[in-house]
Amino acid sequence: MSEINIPTEFLPLDGRFGCGPSRLRHEQIAAFASEGAKLMGTSHRQAPVKNLVKRVQEGLMDLFHNPEGYEIVLGNGGSTAFWDAAAFSLVEKKALNLVHGEFGSKFASALTNPWLDKPTVINGTPGSRLELQAEAGVDSYAYAQNETSTGVVTPVRRVTGADQGALMFTDATSAAGGIDFDATETDVYYFAPQKNFASDGGLWFALMSPAAIERAEKIAASDRYIPEFLSVKTAIDNSRLNQTLNTPAISTLFLLGEQINWMNENGGLSWADARTKAASAHLYNWADASEFATPFVSNPEHRSQVVVTIDFNDSIDAAAIAKVLRANGIVDVEPYRKLGRNQLRVATFTATELADVQKLTQAIDFVVGELA
Ligand SMILES: *Cc1c(COP(=O)(O)O)cnc(C)c1O
Repeated sequence: MSEINIPTEFLPLDGRFGCGPSRLRHEQIAAFASEGAKLMGTSHRQAPVKNLVKRVQEGLMDLFHNPEGYEIVLGNGGSTAFWDAAAFSLVEKKALNLVHGEFGSKFASALTNPWLDKPTVINGTPGSRLELQAEAGVDSYAYAQNETSTGVVTPVRRVTGADQGALMFTDATSAAGGIDFDATETDVYYFAPQKNFASDGGLWFALMSPAAIERAEKIAASDRYIPEFLSVKTAIDNSRLNQTLNTPAISTLFLLGEQINWMNENGGLSWADARTKAASAHLYNWADASEFATPFVSNPEHRSQVVVTIDFNDSIDAAAIAKVLRANGIVDVEPYRKLGRNQLRVATFTATELADVQKLTQAIDFVVGELA
């Protein structure tokens, strides 16, 4: 089976279609080898690295349309650490989580702890989603903009009828930099750089509204115990000085900075949005027209433009397709491990060329023909 050779004409130039870490552009690597290399091994408390952090923060603000009063805050530990930071530092008493997959559910778990009221969880079936509903007494509303485990998108929009001062939390880990949005519709837009930003893991970033910053300050001043590493107030103070509490990965920051520049120079978030829309539309159209493949997300309005999940007929073993693709250099199209479906999952992050996605569907068609 793994001896099936996919003809070169069907092979993408870059065979990486994973949901993170995801493909980097070779221009990022080239810039890293020249300019980035000069920063490696130097202090993150000195001007060269602090300027890099500043460039990243300002670039992100430009990309996100410079919402008035918002700030870019960063820290170590990726989005997973940010869930705990939010639990300690940002949720006041009770949260409401919209969940329809692994990532949404992980944040709900982090908010189920001894110092907060048990969160209300609106639990939808994977592959579709329900809507956020306002509830009296809830001070924090949370959802994933792109549920990476299933390929379901949720619009960035404030819930209507929420209590005065309630905050919106958007897990934008796999959406940021690939889907355009209005920042005034959220308070905490957080993400990690190994997805649309084509960098490496290990850091979290949050675009925070003035109300969210005020919340962090209020909770930091209260008598709640907050571990220093998970203090968002400490992260805000450090971020204002273009620093992090502890040592960041300089290479991650550099590669991220290159990707942000590339996006901003080409037309910003609306340009990135159009790219991911075109790449994902090719896959959805191909699956709709295919005799053996169907989009897993049946409602077109719920379909993500950055993570495409494709179910296969029972007569075809998607895992076998993935294995042949991998042997031919097309990697990481396996479905989310816990979803357990006969499926392929393809990231169409901003760095992904449409031409590569077109080759991918040709390669899949070829492999299915050979396996039959
Ligand atoms: C990848 C991902 C995460 C986890 O990010 P880490 O940086 O690995 O912690 C969280 N949420 C979503 C939606 C993701 O796609």
